[in-house]
Amino acid sequence: MDISHNSGLKLLFQEPHLYIQLLVEQKKQLVTTLPPGAGSNSLAWVKLFKKPGGVGGGGGLGKSYQPGSMLSLALTKGLLNEPGQNSCFLNSAVQVLWQLDIFRRSLRQLPGHFCLGDACIFCALKSIFSQFQESRERALPSDSLRHALAETFKDEQRFQLGHMDDAAECFENILERIHLHIVSDTATEACTSKSCITHQKFAMTLYEQFVCRSCGASSDPLPFTELVHYVSTTALCQQVGHVLGKNDRLRSDMFGELLQAANTIGDLRNCPSNCGQSIKIRRVLLNCPEIVTIGFVWDAEQSDLTEDVVRSLGPHLNLSGLFNRVTDENAKRSELRLVGMICFSSKHYSAFAYHTKSSKWVFFDDATVKEVSV
Ligand SMILES: [Zn+2]
Ligand SMILES: [Zn+2]
Ligand SMILES: [Zn+2]
Repeated sequence: MDISHNSGLKLLFQEPHLYIQLLVEQKKQLVTTLPPGAGSNSLAWVKLFKKPGGVGGGGGLGKSYQPGSMLSLALTKGLLNEPGQNSCFLNSAVQVLWQLDIFRRSLRQLPGHFCLGDACIFCALKSIFSQFQESRERALPSDSLRHALAETFKDEQRFQLGHMDDAAECFENILERIHLHIVSDTATEACTSKSCITHQKFAMTLYEQFVCRSCGASSDPLPFTELVHYVSTTALCQQVGHVLGKNDRLRSDMFGELLQAANTIGDLRNCPSNCGQSIKIRRVLLNCPEIVTIGFVWDAEQSDLTEDVVRSLGPHLNLSGLFNRVTDENAKRSELRLVGMICFSSKHYSAFAYHTKSSKWVFFDDATVKEVSV
């Protein structure tokens, strides 16, 4: 796969649904894609990136899914993208959402919503989901959602028909809209609705603060909520270089720490009491999100960082590694596993998702669905 320097990756981590009971099961499942004792470099999709021909050329990918040939993948369908539609960004976001067990089930269980009729993103998404479930077609149109999205963001001139857009922003906006359809409240920052999938499952409740180690002075804590945790790839690769420079091995369990270090590296301030020290920002996680989304910001103009970014990826993520401090007891113990990925390469979006029932990674490229085999 030719991933150019402006390629984008978006990762989703999901907490085992019933934390303690399912943990063993989760790890057992992972063995099927990860040889025992293997590091992150053995992940199926990492190999895929490195193979000549890669994703687009079909190297490393299994046969396209034939309807009815595999019962476990029967609910896995492609999404159409006719010439000129440029819907790959939307299709990738939808596929990842559909494959997220927690999201799919929660959406199904919701009793009602504030409906916007023709421009209702909620209805359009639900209709695609029910077609995923019921249709016998191999690939389905995503037009209804495309229209609802275009209608909703008409005034901002975003996600308009025929125009290519950003999959990460589309994913985040779909989640924000779902919140509005359920809660009908613009105060997204303090959403406490128990039925709001967006904030109950995806949101990270944080505060950030500068604390001086030298004199103890601290800035006022700044609380905020995020649905996607953005990390600069330039900073991440500096951290990878830092670890390798110390002649250390890059271990797959370092992923959270690498992300945290990358996120704090440039954020130095002067001590609030002016003691002369420059101090780092501290980010504290207050809740235990079930799904964590990491968005990579490709901010390097010149060099190709793809190789280093892919190298840094780990199949697991500890929240206590990702943040300076975690206050929730469940969050302290939780180990999240990688379940989805949206990729951007050669001006085109595609997605990888972990299919729980078959314990396999599946690759989605619009109408094409392929099982990932190593
Ligand atoms: Zn509706
Ligand atoms: Zn909400
Ligand atoms: Zn100080």
